[in-house]
Amino acid sequence: MIEMNKIIKQFLSQVSEKNQNEPEFMQAVTEVAETVIPYIVTQDIYYGQNILLRMVEPERVVSFRVAWIDDKEEIQVNRGYRIEMNSAIGPYKGGLRFHPSVNLSILKFLAFEQVFKNALTTLPMGGGKGGSDFDPKGKSDTEVMRFCQSFMTELFRHIGPNKDIPAGDIGVGGREIGYLFGQYKRLKNEFSGVLTGKGMSWGGSLIRPEATGYGVVYFINEMLKNKGRSMKGKKVIISGSGNVAQYATEKCIDMEAKVLTLSDSSGFIYDKDGIDSEKLHYIMELKNEKRVRISEYTRKYPKAEFHPNKSPWNIKCDVAIPCATQNELDKEDAISLIKNGCNTVGEGANMPCTPDAVEQFIKNNVLYAPGKASNAGGVAVSGLEMAQNSLRYTWTRDVVDGKLKEIMSDIHTSCVKYGSSKDEINYVKGANIAGFVKVADAMLAQGVV
Ligand code: NDP
Repeated sequence: MIEMNKIIKQFLSQVSEKNQNEPEFMQAVTEVAETVIPYIVTQDIYYGQNILLRMVEPERVVSFRVAWIDDKEEIQVNRGYRIEMNSAIGPYKGGLRFHPSVNLSILKFLAFEQVFKNALTTLPMGGGKGGSDFDPKGKSDTEVMRFCQSFMTELFRHIGPNKDIPAGDIGVGGREIGYLFGQYKRLKNEFSGVLTGKGMSWGGSLIRPEATGYGVVYFINEMLKNKGRSMKGKKVIISGSGNVAQYATEKCIDMEAKVLTLSDSSGFIYDKDGIDSEKLHYIMELKNEKRVRISEYTRKYPKAEFHPNKSPWNIKCDVAIPCATQNELDKEDAISLIKNGCNTVGEGANMPCTPDAVEQFIKNNVLYAPGKASNAGGVAVSGLEMAQNSLRYTWTRDVVDGKLKEIMSDIHTSCVKYGSSKDEINYVKGANIAGFVKVADAMLAQGVV
């Protein structure tokens, strides 16, 4: 045990030396190293091949200037990035994030996680991530369009339908994907499946907008099913009110669970009566069309409470689904959730729980699903969108939803395969080892490249 800790520590200090001032990236690498290195040392084919050391080094990092003109005719400058992390099992695939907090560390952590997540889906997709410190909030549609056009004017030379296929993430939804796609098409003079999350009339897939949110609830349901339980009647708290949170809420309502909270960066709403379909529809209107703060909800539904500048983790529930952003749920939040009876946590966001929050969940036998497993539904349906683009064909809603369910169930099975010990399933260990094995096998077969 002491020897193993020493090996892990040595590996992490080697990685950290090369990646100074990248705390989010190191956090993601640490979580993987702690579960995967003990596995590697027991496997002759992987041991001594420095596979993990190769996996933490991006194949390529692109950083570029994005200059654009705002509505007051002033010149603005943002920074754009694309991290092409690993292409062992397929072309780079992963979203674009537009948020003022975006930096190299955050995108590298997301790209690293994406490699494992994409491998878990069983589809042939490598891992990447990109974005910009541009903030779409408060910008007019034409400003967002001009920014997207400028961003794509550089990015287009690095991506392609068989090379690197970006999608949405925080701050990048259907509107942004449309502007990005339009500019790519104009520059390349070709109509191809270079982005996913496209509109239905121009190459999109049914269920793609819903996929991450639906997928996380399907995954949670698999964990509960494994314990002889189900989502029916469960009290659920959800953070965020964007794409993932909205469709996680929709699927919870479908499965007869009661969603009590949603949030944004200004605070959270608590509706004791539960957020039903009609109320969710109103939230979608507030967030997707009017683009206003979530507190507006309490004007229409005055029985609900708004808690400014707070997260929902002290509300009593059975299931918690963090769907906003990284490190939004810390140790104290985890303790409060456990104290209030929460026994199941499924991550909709990427790395929303801090490492000491995860430690609390595992120590207290909370069913805990890491994002790379539970939120893989989005990229899985992106993979299905790519397949439909190649076929020049569109599958029905039921076909795509059926495939999504099957993929989430297969990911659950892989986590159980690699994460089970005597009487418990460690989903973190299961997801990390299952993802590692698939990528590592391909890397070994392809030689030292
Ligand atoms: P959206 O931009 O649609 O929504 C993000 C939500 O999170 C908003 O409610 C936003 O509030 C809130 N939020 C963002 N940053 C912060 C912050 N720093 N503090 C508090 N709240 C914050 O993004 P998505 O729903 O697409 O993504 C949410 C999470 O899910 C991210 O971690 C993303 O990486 C992950 N994810 C998304 C996938 C997808 O398919 N979209 C796939 C897999 C993972 P506000 O509006 O106030 O900023």
